[in-house]
Amino acid sequence: MLFLVYETEPIWMTLIFIVIFFLAVIFYYMPKELEKRRKEDQAYADRKGWTLEQLHKHRKNTRDRRIPKSLREYILKRDNYECQYCGSQTRLEIDHIFPFSRGGGNEPENLQVLCKSCNLEKGDSIPDIFKEKNL
Ligand SMILES: [Zn+2]
Repeated sequence: MLFLVYETEPIWMTLIFIVIFFLAVIFYYMPKELEKRRKEDQAYADRKGWTLEQLHKHRKNTRDRRIPKSLREYILKRDNYECQYCGSQTRLEIDHIFPFSRGGGNEPENLQVLCKSCNLEKGDSIPDIFKEKNL
C-alpha cells in the first residue's frame, strides 16, 4: 500500500503515512505491550511473594543463568526425564518457566524439562499461567 501511495501521490503523502504509522506504534502499541509485560511480571512476583521492585532488582542482580548439576539432576528426575510439553525423552534441556531474561529464577518451581525443539519454540515467551485471563 505504501508503495502504491509512493508512485501515485506526492512524497509528502508518503511521509504523512509513515508519521501516522509511527505515532500509532508509539502511542497505541507500546503502552499496551509495556502494560502486558508489567502484568506478567506482577503475576510472577506475586507467586514469589515479591514486590515488582524486588523482581526488577533480582533481574538486575542475577547474571548467572547456569543451573548447578545437582539441581539439573533433581529437575530431570522430578519431571521423569521427559519433555513436559511433548513427552520426548531425547535432547532434554532445563527451561526457565518464567524466562531468566525477565527475572525468572533458578528455583525448582520455575524450572522444567523440555526437549530442544519445544524449548526453541517456547523461547522467551511467557506461559499462560502468568498471562492475564481473558486476553
Ligand atoms: Zn518436547
